[in-house]
Amino acid sequence: TPALHVKDLRKTYGNGVEALKGVSLTVQPGDFFALLGPNGAGKSTLIGILSSLVNASSGEAEVFGVSIHKNRSAAMQLIGLVPQEINFNQFEKPFDICVNQAGFYGIGRVEAAIRAEKYLKELRLWDKAHHQARMLSGGMKRRLMIARAMMNEPKLLILDEPTAGVDIEIRRSMWQFVSGINAAGTTVILTTHYLEEAEQLCRNIAIIDHGRIVQNTSMKSLLSTL
Ligand code: ADP
Ligand code: ADP
Repeated sequence: TPALHVKDLRKTYGNGVEALKGVSLTVQPGDFFALLGPNGAGKSTLIGILSSLVNASSGEAEVFGVSIHKNRSAAMQLIGLVPQEINFNQFEKPFDICVNQAGFYGIGRVEAAIRAEKYLKELRLWDKAHHQARMLSGGMKRRLMIARAMMNEPKLLILDEPTAGVDIEIRRSMWQFVSGINAAGTTVILTTHYLEEAEQLCRNIAIIDHGRIVQNTSMKSLLSTL
């Protein structure tokens, strides 16, 4: 079973904008996959559908064989999402942010605390675990977004333009962790509008434009055509 299988996915918003015009896509388990496209191409809409924040107008999406439409909660257990914008409560503490996220997935307090410690340590945030999140640097906030997304130990980690407006040092520390969990077997999908970023990290790539996939190939063969 593929990690992600999307078939003829369409989304028309209430204002009539056709954000996705029949998107089909397959991502294999273990892949580090890039979804590249300019602003307005439909990346966030697609990620929104995969993470159940947006309802598709038609089409199918399955995560490791589990339908997002028919079996939403089981599908959500398999996905970790790092959204574009920092969206945790800045007055909460990283440890609590992670534990609360685990609670959302029905993970018990003891296990939640174990995981929070594990991922906050791996993301070099443990010494800040009990300080309010607003005290963290920009890079630490980004790493906290990743730690939070790891709390359900997802088989598929989706990062939606996670480095927009983030400096090189911070990017490097994010990619170090994400590459590590990919090497350990987690499938990763990264959306970006920078080819340079995708090029260094990703094995396969789909290019989306105006709601359609216009290219879907290995990074190697894409780069050889440029
Ligand atoms: P849905 O079809 O999922 O119900 P809607 O068209 O009702 O979506 O819009 C959802 C929300 O997104 C609304 O609050 C709307 O104001 C907002 N919105 C509308 N246009 C845009 C846009 N171009 N980009 C981002 N958000 C938008
Ligand atoms: P990307 O993430 O690639 O920048 P989006 O999925 O955000 O693209 O947007 C695709 C298209 O859908 C754009 O034309 C955008 O304005 C529109 N759009 C996005 N969200 C909404 C919304 N909630 N309501 C209406 N239109 C939207």
